[in-house]
This record gives sequence, C-alpha cells and structure tokens, in this order.
Amino acid sequence: MSTLLIKNGTIVTATDLYKGDVFVEGERISAIGTALTMPADRTIDAAGKYVLPGGIDVHTHLDMPFGGTTSADDFESGTIAAAHGGTTTIVDFAIQYRGQTLHHAWDTWMKKAEGKAAIDYGFHMIITELSDQVEQEMDALVTQGVTSFKLFMAYPGVFMLDDASIFRALLRTGQNGGTICMHAENGGVIDVLVKKALAEGKTAPKYHALTRPARAEAEATHRAIALAEMAGVPIYIVHLSAAEALEMVTEARDRGLPAYAETCPQYLFLSYDNYEEPGFDGAKYVMSPPLRARDTQDRLWRGLAFNDLQAISTDHCPFCMKEQKAIGEGDFSKIPNGAPGIETRMSLVYDGGVRTGRLSLNRFVELTSTSPAKIFGLFPRKGTIAPGSDADIVVFDPNRTQRLSARTLHMKVDYNPYEGREVTGVTDTVISRGRVIVDGERFTGRAGAGSFLKRSPR
Ligand SMILES: [Zn+2]
Repeated sequence: MSTLLIKNGTIVTATDLYKGDVFVEGERISAIGTALTMPADRTIDAAGKYVLPGGIDVHTHLDMPFGGTTSADDFESGTIAAAHGGTTTIVDFAIQYRGQTLHHAWDTWMKKAEGKAAIDYGFHMIITELSDQVEQEMDALVTQGVTSFKLFMAYPGVFMLDDASIFRALLRTGQNGGTICMHAENGGVIDVLVKKALAEGKTAPKYHALTRPARAEAEATHRAIALAEMAGVPIYIVHLSAAEALEMVTEARDRGLPAYAETCPQYLFLSYDNYEEPGFDGAKYVMSPPLRARDTQDRLWRGLAFNDLQAISTDHCPFCMKEQKAIGEGDFSKIPNGAPGIETRMSLVYDGGVRTGRLSLNRFVELTSTSPAKIFGLFPRKGTIAPGSDADIVVFDPNRTQRLSARTLHMKVDYNPYEGREVTGVTDTVISRGRVIVDGERFTGRAGAGSFLKRSPR
C-alpha cells in the first residue's frame, strides 16, 4: 500500500483550523497528528499552505447534448480541469429523454464517464417524463446510489414537468429517501416573453436575460418549496441566481422547512452588465437562469454567509463561441445555454469570499465541499479531513496569484467568462484517493482513474 505524508500545513475543515500532519495509507486518511514521523513513500511539505478537503462540485454537465450541439468538455477534459482547480468529486446529470427508462439514461452516462473521468463522480437523474414505471425506477436507483433527481419547471416541451408530476416525484422521495433538485424558473412565462421579443425583432444575446425575469425564478422557487412542503419532503434548488428567489428560500427556512439551495460563482462575480458587451460577446454569458443586476451579488454573499444558501456549485456547461454559441447569432433563443466554471470555482470563491472577509475559511470549506457532501449522501467518505475518509485533499497556497485566461486554463472552450481577472489563492497539490493527480501545475493523474460513487439516501 502506498503512503503519503503531508506535513506542516494548516488543516481546515468545516469546523476546525489547526496546524498538523496528515498521513495517508492507500486511498484513505489513516492518521492526523502533530510531528508525525512515520516513513512514507512521499512527503509533501505544506508549510504556509492550507490542507483542505477536495472540492465537491454537485452541478456539472460534461458531454451533454443541448440545442443541437454538445457541451465542449467531456469526462476526461472536464475532470482534469476540475482537478487543476482543486475539485476531486463531481456529481453530473444523466438525462432521461421522453420515452426512455431512467436506467437507459444512467447506462448512457456511465459509458460517457467510464475510462475517462480522472476524479470520482456520481450522477443525479434528470426526469422529463414520470410514468408509474419511472416512479418504481426511482426507488431502484436510490438503492443503486443515484439518490437525487432533477426536475425542470422551465423548457416546456423539452424538460418541463407539470406540477402534478413534480408533486408525485416529491411524494415518492418521501418513501425512498431520494432528494429532488429543482430548476426553478416559470417556463410558461419565459416562453411567451421569448416569442414576443423575437416577434419585435429583439434578437441580441441580452434579450436572453431580459426574457427571464427574476420574478419568474422567485415564483417557481416559491412553488417548488410549497409543493415540497405539501409532500412533506426536503427540496434543493439548483443554481439560485436572483435575490427575489433567495427571499423565498430564506422565508421557508425561517419557518423551519428543509429547503436548500446552491448558487454559482457566475452569479457572485458577473452581472447583467456582461450582456451589454459589444457585438455578440454577450453570448458568452447566456445561461439559465441568467446573470442578474449587479446589486444581487451582495445579497447572495450574505445568503452564503448566513446559511440561507448551503452550497456553491458551478453548473459547468461550456460551449465554444466559435461554431457553438454562434448558432444563436441572429436569434438569442438558439444560443446554447451554459458557461465554463469547473476549474475556477475554488480560487474565485477564496479570492472573492475569504480574502474579502465575506466568508470564514471554515465556511469556504463547508460551501465548496462539506455541505454538498452531506446533502448528497457522500459524507463522511468525502467532504472532510478525518481518519477513515477518502484521501481527497487539496494543498492550497493562499498567497499565490493566478491570472485567469482561456489560454492557460484546462477547460476545452475558446473563451473564459473571467478572462484577465487575477485571483489570489491557488491550488498547489491535489490528491484523489491517495494519488497525487496535480503536482504544481502538472497533471499527474490518469483518465479513467475516477470511480462511480454510490451515494447514500437521506
Ligand atoms: Zn445545470
């Protein structure tokens, strides 16, 4: 069994902060202490650096078909980019297309990941059609480790489910211990606004945002929480972007309801103003929900600090400007929805959250690793630094600076939404189940070394 000793670092978990050494045997952490002296195959000196649990990104779309094209990162390039950014676990989305079984969808996505993923991965299941048979399949999937299901209140005719189906799925998770994740936007309203804008000749990228009002997100968030309340089950709102939607989550949590929500770095660092960039450049930021008014950012940071938001994920779904985003030149509704982010999450949140004093170091770890691990059935195997936990560890240099650029990042996409932005706080060494997979700036892991994670029900 190979051994690894990480010495002299500052170990940070969601609750602790102390100087210590971490000893890894095989794939697991076996001891934590001070001045550990056991012999090891490799010793890493982490003096002056943080030793963090590997990042967990519970919202990615690798190798995903959308609008006549496919997201630019597959499970190989996407997970290698994730590793460079300090993320050692992802939960991606398998999609049930209408007429298909959930197991067919799961098989399809397992094949996309097998032999390619360089870090561990799990799947949420997107349900687009809910028959009696599909409800039974939900139970089976929960026992097989696919314990969460994503439903859409948007994209009528493609992904959207009606309230009755959503309510039935919620009730089912009350029996099988699964968790419903919701894309909360009022798809009917948005469709009408999109058609109206196009009829008026409004075709530029910014109309993507102007046809998806914050209130459409708030209404759907409120409705999703109300449906979950009536079903007596928890709910998790994905990629919350609007302050109005956050108010709905906060109000529910104040009433003691198990309502959870994540936000994403793009909503913390970018804003509607980006859609006003010249020419077709606004297309870089076409995603759903869209970027919001700049003053939303402070509200979201406050939500993160005070636990009205419990996780930061990326919704990584990259499309190149050339040939992919370009499909929507002349019609914003045809621009593939999504942007890259899997590699930049940890540094952005550290730089913009911890260094500014908005988040404590512990809260940073909690939002990027521990809390998503707990919500999605991976804790304590993942999400912390403790004896017995997987040795998914990031040695993080809080003083090193990096300039974010599509030219130097590893995501396979021809632009970066944060191009030129300088961040302080950069991943140094990344360890996945005991193996060093990023060493300085070099990838030393292997495509296919990642394992499927069988997650636990609630
Ligand atoms: Zn998504």
